[in-house]
Amino acid sequence: MPQSADPIIQIENMHKWFEDFHVLRDINLNVTEGERIVIAGPSGSGKSTLIRCINRLEAHDQGRIVIDGIELTENLKRIDEVRREVGMVFQDFNLFPHMSVLENCTLALIHVRGMAQAEAEETAMGYLERVRIPEQADKFPGQLSGGQQQRVAIARSLCMNPKIMLFDEPTSALDPEMIREVLDVMTDLAGSGMTMLCVTHEMGFAREVADRMIFMDEGEIIEIAPPETFFTNPQSERTKAFLSQII
Ligand code: ADP
Ligand code: MG
Repeated sequence: MPQSADPIIQIENMHKWFEDFHVLRDINLNVTEGERIVIAGPSGSGKSTLIRCINRLEAHDQGRIVIDGIELTENLKRIDEVRREVGMVFQDFNLFPHMSVLENCTLALIHVRGMAQAEAEETAMGYLERVRIPEQADKFPGQLSGGQQQRVAIARSLCMNPKIMLFDEPTSALDPEMIREVLDVMTDLAGSGMTMLCVTHEMGFAREVADRMIFMDEGEIIEIAPPETFFTNPQSERTKAFLSQII
């Protein structure tokens, strides 16, 4: 797949505060199209805040974030453009409980994209097949397992045809036997050339899929390295300490 020279995500000297708490400190990161990044780090290190800044669920206070050539500023029209390009999957699925699986997937296609219902349903069924649950289309989220719900959430994001997918601990709320089915879908997606940033503690997945690992601690990026180096020869003492706890 051809890759454009410009990074699809550019973050330069980015800082964020919550009141007087300095949550992100001088973040610098360029991601090229098609790259798969896994972000690891202790709880509270700023991982969620960082990826939420990338689709402007949180606003940064200093520095620059440029997504596919669009700089994130107060300009709401541009933020809408960016949100269309960036899909996000959360730990707790965030499906609408009163809508069927199919309706969850077609909602934005119909109401944001203005797609006709039949076409929206066809599109949604395509993605439900891709995450291997087309037979659940008429059920409600509460009738599905956690793993199935998370796969619906992934299908729903993919319906919008994003250029970038952000995952924030997508398997952390799942029972162990359901983690694999979600990771398999994410691995498929990685193989399709999607640009992905994944916050996860699943280090097996990270080794298999990541082009680069990022380790964060106390609001800073401490280390960025390919997984071979990251897992076998981490440079920072903080990365070593973290890895010794989780592997
Ligand atoms: P992680 O995802 O790595 O666990 P977060 O990005 O969720 O970390 O949080 C980083 C720090 O910022 C934590 O100390 C958290 O309590 C704090 N924090 C997160 N969101 C808010 C908020 N909306 N207001 C104030 N503090 C917050
Ligand atoms: Mg988090």
